[in-house]
Amino acid sequence: MSPVELAPPALSGAREAFIEGAYLISSILFVLGLKSLTVPDRARRGMQLAALGMLLAIVGTLVHHEIVSYGWILAGLALGTAIGWPLGTRVPMTAMPQRIAISHMFGAIAATLVGVAEYRHLAGLPGGPGHGQMAALGFEVLFGSLTVTGSFMAFGKLQEFLPGRPLTFRGQNLLSAGLFLAGVGLMAWLVVAPQHPAAFLAMLAVGLLFGVSLVLPIGGADMPVVISLLNSYAGLASSATGFAIGNNVLIIAGALDGASGFILSVVMSKAMNRSFGNVLFGAFGAPPPPSAAPARDVAVRAITPEDAATELAYARLVIVVPGYGMAVAQAQHQVREMAQLIERNGGTVLYAIHPVAGRMPGHMNVLLAEADIPYDRLKEMEEINGEFKNADVALVIGANDVVNPAARTDRSSPIYGMPILDVDQARHVIVLKRSMSPGFAGIENELFHAANTSMLFGDAKASLAQLVHEIKQA
Ligand code: NDP
Repeated sequence: MSPVELAPPALSGAREAFIEGAYLISSILFVLGLKSLTVPDRARRGMQLAALGMLLAIVGTLVHHEIVSYGWILAGLALGTAIGWPLGTRVPMTAMPQRIAISHMFGAIAATLVGVAEYRHLAGLPGGPGHGQMAALGFEVLFGSLTVTGSFMAFGKLQEFLPGRPLTFRGQNLLSAGLFLAGVGLMAWLVVAPQHPAAFLAMLAVGLLFGVSLVLPIGGADMPVVISLLNSYAGLASSATGFAIGNNVLIIAGALDGASGFILSVVMSKAMNRSFGNVLFGAFGAPPPPSAAPARDVAVRAITPEDAATELAYARLVIVVPGYGMAVAQAQHQVREMAQLIERNGGTVLYAIHPVAGRMPGHMNVLLAEADIPYDRLKEMEEINGEFKNADVALVIGANDVVNPAARTDRSSPIYGMPILDVDQARHVIVLKRSMSPGFAGIENELFHAANTSMLFGDAKASLAQLVHEIKQA
């Protein structure tokens, strides 16, 4: 055999080893990245590790012998960058949930399209797809398609071009159950008899419809759970894509994504004291849809920045409760400035973090970290709730639902049962918000009328700047 004849297998073996090596290292980097994300001060490093892993996975894939056209890949890269760059740099933190929803949609579109193309390719070969291949393709297309429309519905609700409240009608859950069974039935049929393009297209259509019917009846405070669940579905679809096209890194990364999204959904459901089934099938008439409660007649006590500052300046323990309004006002830097002044006077400032404060998990942690607030001052709900009774001031900054005592006492409230921060146990509660408007769940908050609560009306950033100014004078 001549050296020329020997060369291609040697080259392809080296190429294969390079690809598998790149995939292995990138999988390890994904795992390490996820692990680092569990600790706030290592989160940035975790993202960098995961990004490096993704780069390696892309490089590994680009040298794959099945790549037929680098032109198309370059075009995809340009298009992806044109969409991804503004998504990453211009979208404000407050719009992060809908940004995540739309990202899941793009990921799911990719998985679904790969599934469709692969089916078309295999169906054209003699013998068609094997049963195992068809199972992977079916799973990929079913999960992918329902994630495409489900994520788009979630995006629309959060971006408010679709009504955010649950949209239900009689027989809603029956329809969803029917679509689910039809999708699984078609998939099973295809696994047994793969050469049925019409059944494949029907399964795709059923998946798309199921995504709509699954997300439409969910709304309000349950949306974060849904987004995280869609994240899990997108991951499972990618993992199935990996099985379908024999790509190890897709299998691993998809499985990591699927598992972490699912765990996050369960953790968030627990934080809201909702069962998973209740979130998904809440349309079964359980909790009434959130509605703006009529304004109450009971007077609220307003406080001036001067009085609030005097109290804060001499407080021994202040617990700051950040919420969505702090994110809107971008007031985190003023919070740090104020805390430093209180600490200079000998007081202690802690931060009470509710798991669903803001509009995405970890929203408050990210903002406070951005303002260089030490991580050890950030306390989880379970850890801090016992401390409120010792606090001189609970300073609620743009938080509303997560401090609403109705969650403890009012069985008819849409947030009944959700664990809340026990701010009402502090000696004095000062609430910074602009008006008496309700929060995300659209319900009135008794806390604002309590005898130990005072309202400091105004934009959180402006109010905090005034407080800082006044504390310096005190
Ligand atoms: P809320 O949405 O309950 O309340 C936010 C409050 O901020 C409003 O009452 C608003 O009152 C005030 N606010 C808005 N802008 C400003 C501003 N510029 N300055 C001062 N105040 C302002 O927030 P919470 O954080 O308490 O609760 C989060 C809610 O969002 C929960 O219901 C949660 O379930 C839901 N959710 C959470 C997600 C997550 O993953 N964290 C994702 C999606 C939803 P006013 O207009 O009077 O100023």
